[in-house]
Amino acid sequence: MNRNSSRNRWQRLPEATVRQAQAAQLRRYLGEAVLPFSAYYRELFRQHGLTAHSFRTLEDLPRLPFTSKADLLNTAERPERFKDFILAPDPRALRRRPGTLLRALVRGRERVTQEFEAEFRPIFMTFTTGRSAEPTPFLFTARDLDHLATAGRRMVEICAGRPEERMLNTLPFAAHLAFWFAHYAGTTGGVMGLSSGGGKVMGTAGNLAYLRKFKPDVLIGMPTFTYHLLHQAAEEGAHCENLRCIVLAGEKVSDGLRPKLRDLASELGARKVDVLATYGFTEAKMAWAECPFPHDRPSGGYHLYPDLGIIELINPQTGEVVPPGQPGEIVFTPLDARGSVVLRYRTGDYTDGGLSYEPCPHCGRMLPRLMGNISRRSEVKEMHLEKIKGTLVDFNELEHVLDDAPHIGAWQVELRKVNEDPLELDEVILHVQKVNGTDESQVRRELDERCFAHLELHPNRILFHTAAEIQRFQGVGQLLKELRVVDHRPEAQSVSIPVTVVISQAA
Ligand SMILES: [Zn+2]
Repeated sequence: MNRNSSRNRWQRLPEATVRQAQAAQLRRYLGEAVLPFSAYYRELFRQHGLTAHSFRTLEDLPRLPFTSKADLLNTAERPERFKDFILAPDPRALRRRPGTLLRALVRGRERVTQEFEAEFRPIFMTFTTGRSAEPTPFLFTARDLDHLATAGRRMVEICAGRPEERMLNTLPFAAHLAFWFAHYAGTTGGVMGLSSGGGKVMGTAGNLAYLRKFKPDVLIGMPTFTYHLLHQAAEEGAHCENLRCIVLAGEKVSDGLRPKLRDLASELGARKVDVLATYGFTEAKMAWAECPFPHDRPSGGYHLYPDLGIIELINPQTGEVVPPGQPGEIVFTPLDARGSVVLRYRTGDYTDGGLSYEPCPHCGRMLPRLMGNISRRSEVKEMHLEKIKGTLVDFNELEHVLDDAPHIGAWQVELRKVNEDPLELDEVILHVQKVNGTDESQVRRELDERCFAHLELHPNRILFHTAAEIQRFQGVGQLLKELRVVDHRPEAQSVSIPVTVVISQAA
């Protein structure tokens, strides 16, 4: 695919063209960048008898084995496993590339050397997130930062950002994709940006001061912290009339959160606020966004960039690609990445929607879109939730049950053992913030009924706390990801899971 033409037309290409162009670009990418310079994939392709030309169409893609997080982890024999995934150019091979000689003649050798540097020399680093494994370095070259900027600019377009707008980025400052993606989206999208670094850097008060003084049109943040910030702002009688759009990143977003954030925004004097979710992960080096949609209609899903990567959905049990529109685990293959590169990367994230190539019902863009609610399966496995009180508990369901519950704000689930005895029964304790002055016994009864109806689980205790107490339990402002479920059972490996979104029943 001609990169310039696909870049200019990236949002207007029909499905057949997209898939054909992706296959052509994949062949070129494998042949020119991955196979000559990736130690890991050169060997993998050799073992499976594959070449760049094995992929005539996207239907051939399943011939390529998956790469998963486990493949990136260090082992005793390979203490720096992540390095095997970095494209390491061999100058002799670069010289043999088609066009190199001609470019050197026309532009001079030094210029060509600089171009190779920009393409291949890593200059920026983030770490993969996830609690099951130690953080793995993921390297970017100048070419990758270009793509990050392109993807960021497109995200601003998709979220209907305008140049005169101001964007407050409250994502935690960290070597993670989310913060940097928001930074690049702001700078290349041409909006005025201010990054607070989140609660850990400036505290709630510092972020609130920015909200008051900067008067952003667009607020970007983690769902839990954004809720907390707007709740605090409303409580202090702050105004933020300009606010038009809240973009949520870093954690998944439940539908119950959106109306509650909109209600809080209206308490700040903002009308018609769109609450848009984003989805991304380090290994893709990019994130995708929803476009604004009517509040009584379902989201149009995450708008993908088909010239920069391929998303497949697979059956997580069999590994087979599922038919269009069917739910499945998200698998990603970049089409022009340098630095750290993983192909057919199994994210462990599962969407209950599917891939759609239909024009978006809200913005009309012709783009593949990733539909549905996305959950991180790996986190469910870590919690061993099936063991709770002998009942199989779907962790994602639990979040929705609590997020969507009326009359409660922030919450935390605590798992204990009766009498702290490892051999005893599990106990589930709900810590909740009650809102709207509702009677305690009524909230207890409602929550108990909801938990039983959806999960066949009766909480052992429901304890009421102030918003500030729950925020302390969750580590709001101290941790990068707030703790929404804590496991205090004696034999548990003290794993705490970050989950979506804190919710409040707005008045
Ligand atoms: Zn759309």
